[in-house]
Amino acid sequence: MSYTEEVYERVVAQNPGEPEFHQAVKEVLDSLKVVIDKNEEKYRSLSVLERLVEPERIISFRVPWVDDNGKVQVNKGYRVQFNSAIGPYKGGLRFHPTVNQSILKFLGFEQVFKNSLTGLPIGGGKGGSNFDPKGKSDREVMAFCQSFMTELCKYIGADTDVPAGDIGVGGREIGYLFGQYKRVRDLYEGVLTGKGLTYGGSLIRTEATGYGVVYILNELMKDHNDSLDGKTVVVTGSGNVAIYAVQKATQLGAKVVAMCDSNGYIHDPNGINLDIVKDIKEVKRGRIKEYADRVEGATYTEGVGIWNIKCDVYLPCATQNELDLDGVKTLIANGCKYIVEGANMPTTREATDYAMANGVLFLPGKASNAGGVATSALEMSQNSQRLSWTSEEVDAKLHQIMVDIYAKISDAAKRYDMPDNFVVGANIAGFEKVVDAMMAQGIV
Ligand code: NDP
Repeated sequence: MSYTEEVYERVVAQNPGEPEFHQAVKEVLDSLKVVIDKNEEKYRSLSVLERLVEPERIISFRVPWVDDNGKVQVNKGYRVQFNSAIGPYKGGLRFHPTVNQSILKFLGFEQVFKNSLTGLPIGGGKGGSNFDPKGKSDREVMAFCQSFMTELCKYIGADTDVPAGDIGVGGREIGYLFGQYKRVRDLYEGVLTGKGLTYGGSLIRTEATGYGVVYILNELMKDHNDSLDGKTVVVTGSGNVAIYAVQKATQLGAKVVAMCDSNGYIHDPNGINLDIVKDIKEVKRGRIKEYADRVEGATYTEGVGIWNIKCDVYLPCATQNELDLDGVKTLIANGCKYIVEGANMPTTREATDYAMANGVLFLPGKASNAGGVATSALEMSQNSQRLSWTSEEVDAKLHQIMVDIYAKISDAAKRYDMPDNFVVGANIAGFEKVVDAMMAQGIV
């Protein structure tokens, strides 16, 4: 059995009941086989892969808080500090009822490679809670965030571990979390990113993930003598990543015709009116369904199936494993040529393999959604310098980072004779830097 297969089996045996973590590890180890095979003895004797797949630390804690009826609620809180070889742990916090240790380990593991690809000095981590902010009052969200941070603040810091937002954690939650950290630790420091502009946030951080997805898509298209101009695009989700992917794709001449949330999807053949989506989602915290009531010619369909809408480019920006084999077959049969992941692992392994085997140019999330964490790292730089850069400066840096990521993953794929296999390219390019740093730092 090869070293990568052995380590995968060990992960499955030692981490029972964690399917998402197994899935993420398998994808990475399969890609790394060509690299490991070249130097197997050395990697084996240093147990490089065993160390790579084991988080440095997992913190799990109780989060008690009081709801509006005076009842005490209890949630689970976590922080997975996965790998600090190239910098302080960095990665978002997710508040969603589905959050468990498997999901956070998969996200933390992916984050290690993603952060490496940005070229910036940030290690990988992820955290969150099974708390559901949906339908809660502002006071309840604040009570939860304060309790969560009262415990988490013992383990994080501007030079140790710097969380950010993710699903269910936006500007409001980051504000409450930052306020509590400052109060308990008595430190005004850049311990979180995605902060508001009046207290250390960076311009363009809100837009960064979605913009970055489209910047790297644009590089991919240029490299294949194509452009976004006039293309039909479907974007899944209607949260932070989705909204700003739609904005940038539209600015670059594409027509985005569909978006969704976890209840259903809207189709607007005339092109999505983003001001209305923003009003529904960002201002009123409503459901995407309302779009069809407000825009003539738009329709709403309850349930899954957004992939039935014909498009040239599909940008899954909602959640893990949202696009399966049937979905991808339908997309391809309808002429889809590009799939670029805005979410983390939104495409199942079978769907990814099928897409790549059938001529789709596919960019994996760890490369294509890295603009968010990259801009978080730019926020950390600004906090350390006690300076704020203009939106033009931040946007230019973000754009250059995405251009560089495309070059790195394309180069790694070519070096291993798999041109246009950006899954392998991203895993290898991310791995090379982390493993070099790990080996230089000894047995830690
Ligand atoms: P948000 O919470 O802002 O938005 C998530 C969106 O996805 C919502 O519209 C939500 O709908 C929808 N959604 C969730 N589950 C499903 C489902 N099963 N089917 C259809 N739609 C669903 O999160 P973000 O936009 O921040 O994050 C989206 C993805 O991008 C996640 O995978 C995240 O890890 C990843 N990501 C985010 C980054 C960031 O900077 N924010 C950075 C890098 C990656 P509903 O309201 O119904 O739940």
